Amino acid sequence: MTDSDKYKLHIKAHAFIKKRPDQIKGLKPKKIAKLFQKLLVFQEELDLQNKKLRHIQGKLENSCNFFYQLYNSAPVGYMIIQSEGIISQANNTLAELLDMNLDDLRGRLFIDFIAPKEQQLSQARIQDFYRNPDRKNLDLQLRRRNGKTLNVRLRGRLVNWPYPNTDAETSKQLLVIVSDITELKRVEKKFKHQAHHDALTKLPNRLLLSERLNQVLAKARRDGQYSAVLFLDLDNFKTINDSLGHSVGDRLLIEVARRLRRNLRRDDTVARLGGDEFVVLLGNIDKDLHKVASQAHSIAEKVRKTLSEPYQIGNQKLHISASIGISLFSSNNENADDILKQADTAMYQAKTEGRNAFRFYRPEMQSEAQARMVIEQDLRKALDRGEFVHYYQAQVDTLGRIIGAEALLRWQHPNQGLIAPAKFMRVAEETGLIVPIGEMGLQAIFKQFNHWSNSGLGEVIQSLAVNVSLRQVHQRDFSQMVIEKLKDAAIDPQLIKIEITEDLMLTERKLDIDQIMELKTHGLRFSVDDFGTGYASLASLRRLPVDEIKIDRSFIRNVNIEPDDASIVETIIAMAQKLKIDSIAEGVERREQMDFLNSRGCDKYQGNYFSRPLPAQEFTSLLEQGEVRPIGLTH
Ligand code: C2E
Ligand code: MG
Ligand code: MG
Repeated sequence: MTDSDKYKLHIKAHAFIKKRPDQIKGLKPKKIAKLFQKLLVFQEELDLQNKKLRHIQGKLENSCNFFYQLYNSAPVGYMIIQSEGIISQANNTLAELLDMNLDDLRGRLFIDFIAPKEQQLSQARIQDFYRNPDRKNLDLQLRRRNGKTLNVRLRGRLVNWPYPNTDAETSKQLLVIVSDITELKRVEKKFKHQAHHDALTKLPNRLLLSERLNQVLAKARRDGQYSAVLFLDLDNFKTINDSLGHSVGDRLLIEVARRLRRNLRRDDTVARLGGDEFVVLLGNIDKDLHKVASQAHSIAEKVRKTLSEPYQIGNQKLHISASIGISLFSSNNENADDILKQADTAMYQAKTEGRNAFRFYRPEMQSEAQARMVIEQDLRKALDRGEFVHYYQAQVDTLGRIIGAEALLRWQHPNQGLIAPAKFMRVAEETGLIVPIGEMGLQAIFKQFNHWSNSGLGEVIQSLAVNVSLRQVHQRDFSQMVIEKLKDAAIDPQLIKIEITEDLMLTERKLDIDQIMELKTHGLRFSVDDFGTGYASLASLRRLPVDEIKIDRSFIRNVNIEPDDASIVETIIAMAQKLKIDSIAEGVERREQMDFLNSRGCDKYQGNYFSRPLPAQEFTSLLEQGEVRPIGLTH
């Protein structure tokens, strides 16, 4: 207490005595002074306490304000719900979430704010939530003022309210924390969509397809209707993808998906299983199997047709086709996997029988699929046991003199005898077994060639043609492997002609082109096999170092009868001459075919007319003769 305060107190004491003289009557002045002294001390203490209290009160108010602000600006909504489900308190965030004022909320039943379509559903859940708020969260939709819905998650806590440990009457109340989970739901939905759809074509994927198949099966169990599954595989997609690049492949797949969708009804499922495999599910069509078969037939035909129309991808026009397998099913002991397998088997059948076609599944097909598997297993064994051999077919000039040979693979099967490539080449290529088969083959062919050269027949056989699949060239070390094998066998690379297929001609893969170029710099020559059956363009003939074109035997067969074939052959020969590339005809079976070819300027031939493919030993005798037929042609 300052001196001035003491002085003021003194004045006050005087005034007091003056006003109420009766109250201090009889008190001695000394006593009065003492009393005042005490009073002063009390007053001082009181002031101190007051000051402290004001300080505490200030702090409390600050803290209250602070928490109130926190409460109102929290990223989640808060509300206190009374036992009857009435909102007694809410924060601004909740009001904002619902696009309402706080007064619109207080005193109202919370259930009134639940979206109408959820109210029925939520009644039981919300009552359960009120009863056991700590147990689990509750996700539901609320209705905003503008009628739009809002996805929220409710979490409940029992708290003391209005404020813990105060004198005010407190009771346990239900505090509900309301979080906006719109974004979460959106992401959830996106993930769910991603898990069920193919990213490239946006079509349902295998997972969603099997869910739909199971739904169809469940329905079939109730109504006995038949459904159909169409399993599609594009015929030459791999070639296009490998040779023109994945971005072209991707665009093609997107276009295929679009055509499929456009040609089918909304209710039909079109799914992509991966790669170039698509599945169409025509669910619960009819109880009459014949009707179902006829409908599946016409849809398969429609799909086949639309997919075989040309595709314009960038500035390229591409042609592909699809092989389709159809499986019809009802509910009898069927499961989704088996149905797909059956359709797949039928698709394979369509492929084997010429592609761009569809086939219905027949139980016998199962055994064909099994046969395919047996071939694969046998091929693996054949590699270990060295069951592959090569036959050699002569290539001759206009006088029937041998100028070279083509090595042709044969499989000496322990039970089935000699098997031609047509029976196993596809499986070998699909399984990649052609890579080790081809590598071992080259080694054997080169060894044989070396043997002929060493036995003085090198003059007769001036070139040896070997067949190579695209799959082999895809191997990273292909060119290196060929060069090493040639070195090992001490063969002049210029004597070797690699027969490549037209799909390799289309390749744009740098690796493929580099390998071919590398082989070329080592002196190897290249011939385009089966020319005219694929898509090789003039441009591709220029891009790769092509030395020879081998006219496909399908054009030679009727070259004397079919004017179209004749003009194709003439054009190919003329084109080769212009490009200064050699031409050779394969599959020459008759004298008049050779005469035609000769008159048009093609002077190299291969075919059964001269000699069938022969085992090495027999071919050696042929080489010793030096010519295949005394044809007696003269220039
Ligand atoms: P390709 O390279 O076009 O071989 C020519 C095919 O025509 C051979 O069939 C041959 O036997 C057959 N042929 C020869 N002359 C005539 C004839 O006058 N008339 C008819 N109709 N056909 C004739 P093959 O030996 O069955 O080979 C079929 C295909 O298998 C070959 O077609 C080739 O693409 C592939 N191939 C053969 N050997 C190998 C190999 O070692 N590696 C690879 N990757 N493929 C091979
Ligand atoms: Mg060939
Ligand atoms: Mg050929």
